[in-house]
Formats: sequence, C-alpha cells, structure tokens
Amino acid sequence: MSNRVPVPSDSGSPAAGGLAVALNAALQQNGGFWFGWSGNVSEEERPLQVHDFGRVSYAVMDLTQRDVDEYYAGFANRALWPVCHYRLDLTEIASNDTAGYFRVNESFARRLATLLKPDDVVWIHDYHFIPLAAYLRQMGFENRMGFFLHIPWAPYDVSSALPAYQTVLSGLTRYDLVGFQTRRDAENFTRCLEQENMARKVSDDRWEADGRVFRVGAFPIGIETDLFRQEAREAKSNSLVRRMRVSMEDKHLIIGVDRLDYSKGIRQRIEAFSCMLERFPQMRNKVTFLQITPKSRSEVPEYLKMQHEVAEQAGWTNGKFGDVDWTPVRYINKAVSRTSLAGLYRSARVGMVTPLRDGMNLVAKEYVASQRATDPGVLVLSRFAGAAAELDSALLVNPYDTEATANAIVRALQMPLEERKERWAAMMEKLRANTVDHWCAAFLAALAEEPTDVLQPPVERAAALDTALPSAAAQFGPSWTGYRRN
Ligand code: UDP
Repeated sequence: MSNRVPVPSDSGSPAAGGLAVALNAALQQNGGFWFGWSGNVSEEERPLQVHDFGRVSYAVMDLTQRDVDEYYAGFANRALWPVCHYRLDLTEIASNDTAGYFRVNESFARRLATLLKPDDVVWIHDYHFIPLAAYLRQMGFENRMGFFLHIPWAPYDVSSALPAYQTVLSGLTRYDLVGFQTRRDAENFTRCLEQENMARKVSDDRWEADGRVFRVGAFPIGIETDLFRQEAREAKSNSLVRRMRVSMEDKHLIIGVDRLDYSKGIRQRIEAFSCMLERFPQMRNKVTFLQITPKSRSEVPEYLKMQHEVAEQAGWTNGKFGDVDWTPVRYINKAVSRTSLAGLYRSARVGMVTPLRDGMNLVAKEYVASQRATDPGVLVLSRFAGAAAELDSALLVNPYDTEATANAIVRALQMPLEERKERWAAMMEKLRANTVDHWCAAFLAALAEEPTDVLQPPVERAAALDTALPSAAAQFGPSWTGYRRN
C-alpha cells in the first residue's frame, strides 16, 4: 500500500519517483494487490477501482478535495515531510489537517479491510499511512503487517515537534516490522520509543509494546542495477541524449536530477557551482551544469517559494558568468524519461547529489550504475543522503558548506582516471550486492519471521493507542487541547 499507485498506462510506464520505480519491480516479481489513492478527487463515495496488469492488481480509491487538502497537502506534506527532513522552520501545524490525516487513514483501513484475507501479508509504505496498522488491528486483523519509511526519521528533539507525535509514534508500534532506510533513522526512532517509554527492548532488534513484539531495522532500498546499466548503454541512440551531447561540444557535463523540493538542496548546489566558477576562473566555458527538476507539490506554498529561489539562483549565475556561446546552468523544469536519464548520467563527468536531507536518494545510485567501467564519472554526494551510508566512496560533502562543495566539484572534474575507477568499482560492488530485489526479499523475509521471544509482562505506560485512536479524528479537531493520557 502506498499513497500514489502508478496504475500502468497503455504504454505500461510507471510514474517517476523512487517509490514507484522500486515497488513496481518488487510487486511484479511477487504478485499481489497494490492499494492506495487514485490521484483523483471526487466528492461522492465511489467504489474501489481495480485494474489487473500481469501479476499485480492495482486497487485505488478517490479522495474528496477536503481529504486531499488536509491529509495529503496538509499533514503529510506540511507537517510530517518537513519534520522528518529536520525542517521545523517549514512545518505548519493545523488541527484540521491532523484530524484529516487520521480520518483518511481510517477510511483507507476500512477499504483495505474489504480486500484482506487472513493469510495476506500487508506491506505499507511511507509517511502517508503511519496509523494504518493501528486501525486494522483495532478492527481485529492479526495479519503480518510491515511498514517501510522511505524518508528519514529525525532525532527525538526534532520529531517530537510533530503534532499528535505520541499517536503517530505509537501507531508504528502496531506493525510486526518497521523498516527504515538507514541505521541512523532506525536508531532515531528507537530512541523516541525509549524517551516516551512507549516500548521496551527485548533483544537486538526486537521491541515490545502493549504485549506485542515488533522488529525495527534498516533496509536500504536499492535499484535495478543491471537494468539501469543496460539502459545507459543503449541510450546512445536516444534523441534527447544525442541532442545534449552535440550541444555540449567539448565541455564537461555536471548533472543534477531532483524533484523540485527544498530537501534536495538545489539552490545551495547552484550556489556551490557558482562559487566554483568564481574561485576557479579556468573552469569557465569548460563545464556546463544541467539541473533536471520536475515540479512537485506546487499546491504547497513552501514549494512555490522555493521554485522562485532556485530559478533566481540559476538566472543570477548565468547572468554573472555566461557568455554569448556558453550558458553555465541549464535549468529544466520537466520530467525526463528513465532511459534518457540513464544516457544523460552516462554522459556526465560529475553527478551532483547534494540534498540537505534525504531518506535514500535513488538518483545517486542510478548515476553510479550508469557509468562506463573504463571511464567512470565522479559522484559528489551529500553526507545527509541515506545513500551515503553505502556509497562512501563518493566525494562526500556537507551541502551547507558552499566553498567545500565548490572544491569537491573541481576535485571531481580533475580526478585521475585510476582514482575514478577505484571509487566507482567500490560503489558498484555495493549496488550489485543490494539491488531492489534484495531489498524487497530482505524486508519480506524479516516480516515473515514470527517472534520467538518469551515476553515479560508489559510495562505500564502512558498512552494506550487502542483507546486513543477511535476518537482521533474528533480529538484533533478544533476543540482539541492536548494529548489524552491515562
Ligand atoms: N526521475 C525520473 N525523471 C525525472 C526525474 C526523476 O524518472 O525527470 C526518477 C529518478 O530516476 C529516480 C526518482 O525519480 O528514480 C527519484 O527518486 P529519489 O529517491 O532520488 O527522490 P524522491 O523523488 O523519491 O524524493
């Protein structure tokens, strides 16, 4: 289950986005239902729409405009997203959004309940659906249920600023397995449990809350490494890639690919490129920075503001350094197909992946997978991307440090072939060992494992979710003044 379900179009291509790309591959392999929002708005209650493609049935439901405003654009994207990305400055708290989030989750749970068989395994994805298991448990479902968070989980002092924090946190204790992208995220989460006295540790990765044992672990998501390499090899004949190569003449290409999102550090990246041109004049007219940035979440005000800032930074850099025959920054706001991307990555001497905070960042992995073994490019990677835990042979940078990032760009452009090959080989080894198939298999195997631990009697604790949840929607309405405690 995930918020958006990329029901294949007639051409069979899924929508862009790390989650969609990864899950399509995983589900086609195992077969099953993919359930979520249709992406459509409808004011009338409409039945589930089910589309069968291959081994997968896509079951989707519409939401009302109010649902979308409160659950999706509101709580998920203006509270959970910024808090999980350590951006309390961009967090908007509104009690009707909080109520809407729980209301819509409950309604998804009721719909899912009509599909569930007793031996079904339920795998729920991402921050939109944290309380799903809690509602299903309340309805009496004892199925194995796993949750995977694709975005970071912030440390206690940050995440506890979330509205309905305790209810969100305790909702996660109702799964059998809670998976994160990195150990850092998993540890941040378990420290939150300890701080709130909401669960106690029973072994290395097992925790107990209200008499249930659940596992917490890191499951870094992978890509289809070999397929991506193949696409990159074959993209030579792709017309967009060819046009790009011709237009580059003999200049080096630096590439950035990100949804337009403040967590991606796009403005800071262009600033670092600009700083590089300022400090290393010999690089002017020798290098072009291509930033591909499809717009996203334009209905959220913080995103509109950022669109202006990024465009301004790109324009400023081009105005300052550009010439009649050279545009330093090519900034493009449209989505590019996966095949074209693979070819562009392969043409780029440097891949710039410098988010301020990111759960994983699949672009980093795709860039590496697309390179030529005999002449690979260099990945400049933010320490704050989940991918840095695996891709530690990249040039790791602090994206807030403009000068250091500028130096890393120059180092990447000037790196000798032998060093490029060594770093690339080390990263490819990781990408081959942990593909999206490995990720999926590892998560599902861990979810299938029944706990064998003998339980001590549960400790007394404050918030019992099962009593707090039924009235959650009402509780977080305008009259809500605080958490209900036993
Ligand atoms: N992507 C794409 N076309 C674009 C831009 C991005 O297909 O124009 C894909 C990209 O190849 C990657 C995904 O979108 O697979 C982005 O995933 P990532 O984890 O980097 O970031 P997210 O968007 O999930 O935050």
